[in-house]
Parts: sequence; structure tokens; C-alpha cells
Amino acid sequence: MKAQTAGAAERGNDVTRPRILVVGAGFAGVECVRRLERKLSPDEADVTLVTPFSYQLYLPLLPQVASGVLTPQSIALSLRRSARYRTRIIPGGAIGVDLKAKVCVVRTITDRIVNEPYDYLVLAPGSVTRTFDIPGLTDNAFGMKTLAEAAYIRDHVISQLDLADASQDPAERASRLQFVVVGGGYAGTETAACLQKLTHSAVRRYPRLDPKLIKWHLIDIAPKLMPELGDKLGRSAQEVLRRRGIEVSLGVSIAKAGPEEVTFTDGRVVPTHTLIWTAGVVASPLIATLDAETVRGRLAVTPEMTLPGSDGVFALGDSAAVPDLAKGEEGAVCPPTAQHAMRQGKAVADNVIATLRGAPLQPYEHKDLGLVVDLGGRDAVSKPLGVELRGLPAQVAARGYHWWALRTGVAKVRVATNWTLNALAGDDFVRTGFQARRPAKLKDFEYTDTYLTPEQVRAHVEGSRPAAG
Ligand SMILES: Cc1cc2nc3c(=O)[nH]c(=O)nc-3n(C[C@H](O)[C@H](O)[C@H](O)COP(=O)(O)OP(=O)(O)OC[C@H]3O[C@@H](n4cnc5c(N)ncnc54)[C@H](O)[C@@H]3O)c2cc1C
Repeated sequence: MKAQTAGAAERGNDVTRPRILVVGAGFAGVECVRRLERKLSPDEADVTLVTPFSYQLYLPLLPQVASGVLTPQSIALSLRRSARYRTRIIPGGAIGVDLKAKVCVVRTITDRIVNEPYDYLVLAPGSVTRTFDIPGLTDNAFGMKTLAEAAYIRDHVISQLDLADASQDPAERASRLQFVVVGGGYAGTETAACLQKLTHSAVRRYPRLDPKLIKWHLIDIAPKLMPELGDKLGRSAQEVLRRRGIEVSLGVSIAKAGPEEVTFTDGRVVPTHTLIWTAGVVASPLIATLDAETVRGRLAVTPEMTLPGSDGVFALGDSAAVPDLAKGEEGAVCPPTAQHAMRQGKAVADNVIATLRGAPLQPYEHKDLGLVVDLGGRDAVSKPLGVELRGLPAQVAARGYHWWALRTGVAKVRVATNWTLNALAGDDFVRTGFQARRPAKLKDFEYTDTYLTPEQVRAHVEGSRPAAG
């Protein structure tokens, strides 16, 4: 592997500004970068961001992209929206970090390997879909974690209706019209609800298809849907899904997955071409390249989000186990939510600045504001600040919260326009075909096989140092 040190030439030897490197342009990374840009003068430090994409993805609205209520662009917030943004952006992904040498190894989008030295490192690479050792799972399941996955699933679901409509074989028709979503958290529940609504409206345009053949399954090994909502609201959500004809199976998982059928752990065999896997997340594989202490895969950090034993290294968001001081329980860590990631982003920027200026660091503390769950149309359940809401009031709270949380004015306008258009004109059923015949399973979208081992990182960084003398 041949490496270059990006930016060395333009920095030259005479510039001694501290280098702050932020990895990941999600909720946590972007909040951090924007605050650093605002609070630091340009000659106080150089800020660099490593990100494979040129946008920040508003993940909570991803199920609405899958169902076509929102266009993909409306939840992809440009990182170059303003001329005031002065951060240098490296288009690529970090594939390893050598904490001793203070070097981050980056694979650019053209597959060039670049060594990026830093003085301060902020790790915010988020998480990837958590999978288990279930036969056939990674080869046959789709995830719901990236914009490409959401766009792909939308096309895939509509193509199942098209293929079923064209088929003369009753068995094929039945299998193409069954859909399985695994994961009864908010991501899985919203995905099943929004996509069921799409197929329910679409089937009216397919006069040869019997609507009764369309069947959605939502399964989870846990005994309850979205336990964070509490018993009553969880049951309300389940009731909405049942009313819509979604079969909810709790205490059940997948025993085996194949291209044309899925076997549940209760023995049922469901003929289907659609398995959507949303059963939780794990920290980005980048964290394992550090060879540092983790808590269930997330990097163990202090309440100030620093990495013990490594000067100038911070981690936050889904990839870090940040102690949840507001909970006040021994060992509690913040859940992997956008709500925490955004606030941690601001707090970590303040702590990086404090370190730079020799000021004391502040611990992160935030009390959960609750949860909003959009089930499509007028259906929703929400618990803002502990108040239980159902139906239209819950939907107003859910959409109002997301609308408020979108970072840019243009994203707010795009999302509001899409919602209005969908409410007035209904769903549309266009299959774009952009991703047709491409590999489309979990690893193809989440690039989980691109990372180095800690030994490879060390060997690589050592090997690319200029020879002494
Ligand atoms: C379908 C769905 C619905 C959700 N709904 C809600 C909700 O309603 N409310 C809520 O609070 N939370 C919700 N979440 C969770 C929330 O989106 C995450 O907790 C949040 O995105 C975490 O922020 P983050 O910055 O840590 O990671 P992310 O926002 O995922 O950002 C990580 C960024 O790092 C980039 N990256 C990854 N690997 C690398 C690498 N090696 N090098 C460089 N960059 C890298 C990624 O491309 C991404 O841009 C939902 C999640 C999903 C998937």
C-alpha cells in the first residue's frame, strides 16, 4: 500500500497551526465542525473533515425516502452550502487510526490510501447495521442505514409488485408480495409502516393483483415493540400496525435466510424476496482499528468524551460509549440517537477548543427529550417530554420535531414541500432502476470490509514514514 500525506504540501513547514481532524459527517461530526468554524479564528487551528459523502444524512427520515414520501435529496444536507464553511474536506473513509503516531489512514473515493496526521482527533463515524451469525443473513438481507439502501429498497419493493403483476405463477405472485422486516425498534417499525402504506396505495394501480396477497411481517426477538415508548404507547403502535394488516410477531427472530424464503425461529417458513434487517446497530468498524477499550463495541470515553490515555483524542455519537450522567446510574451510557449525537457534537467542539486554549473541559449531560415515531399518513405515536400522544397530535409532534431539527433552510423547504405534495397528490410508484443488477446487500452499501486491523494500521504507518538520515 503506497501512502501520501494529504495536505502536507499546502501546509508547508512554516505553518504550525494545530491540526484538528474530524472523522464522519453525521449528526455528531457536522455539529462539531460547524461549531469549531464558528468559535475558532482561522489562524487558531486547521480543521479537516474525512467523509465518504458530501452531505449529512438526516437518518430519522430515511423510511420516508424508502416509501417515496420524500426525495433522497431532501434529507441529504450539503456540506458545502455556505461559502463561510472553511473546513478542508477529504472525500473518503478512515480505515484505521494509529494513536501513537497520531495518524489517521484514509481510503479516498478513488481508492488512494492517504495518511492524515493530526494533533486533535474527533471520532464520529457513527454505526453500521448489527448482524448475527444467522445462515444466509448477510447475503440476503437489505439494511436501512444509508441513502442508497433506502433508494434501493424503494425500487425493490415496487419491482416486486411489477413482477408479481406480470407473473402467471400463483406461488411466485404470493412470494413476491410478502415482505419481512426484522427489528421492532423505531427504525424497523417506521420502515414496515411506511412501506406497507406504499404497497397498500400502489396495489390499486395493479388491477390483476389481489390486495389480500400483500403481507407485511414485522418481527423482533424482544417481547415488546419500541420498549422506550412504554407499555401503553407501544401497544398503541402495535394496534395501528395490526389494523393496517401488518403481522407483528414478538419473541421471534430469523433462523435462516435465503433468496426466496425466510425461516423464522418459531418454525414458520415465509416465501419472500424481501428481507429488511434493522435489528440494531454496532459502532463503526473503525473503532476496532484503535485497539482501545470498548463497551459493547463502542469506544469507552470519559464524560468529557476524551479517550483515556491518548492526548487530544475525542469520540462521540453512535461510535462512542459516552456516560449518561443525566440517568445517574452506574455504567449507564447514552443511547445511540441523533438527539444525543447532535448535542455531543457541540459539546465536543467546546472541549477541543478548551484543550487548545488550556481551559477546563466540561462533561456532557443531556436529559432525553423523548421519542417520535411516524407510522405514515396520520398515524404516529410520540412521547415528547414524557407526554403520550397518538394519531394526528403525535404526527404533528413527530414531523414538527424533525422539521425543526433539519439543519438548513433549504432542507426544511424541500421536506415541507414533499410532505405537502404527498398529502395532496398521494404516493407515486416510480421505479428508477438506477441500482438494478448491482450488488445490494449489507456490506455493499455499508463498506464494512474496507477496514485495516490494528496490526495492519501500525505496519502501514510505520512503512510509509520517510527513511531517517
Ligand atoms: C432508520 C433510522 C431511523 C432513526 N430514527 C431516529 C429518531 O427518530 N430519533 C433519533 O434520535 N435517532 C434516530 N436514529 C438514530 C440516529 O440516526 C443515530 O443515532 C445518529 O445518526 C448518530 O449520529 P452519528 O453522528 O454518531 O452517526 P451518523 O449520523 O450515522 O454519521 C456517521 C457519519 O460518518 C460517516 N462514516 C462512517 N464511517 C466512516 C469512516 N470510516 N470514515 C469517515 N466517515 C465515516 C458516515 O457516512 C456518516 O456520514 C435513526 C436511525 C436510523 C437508521
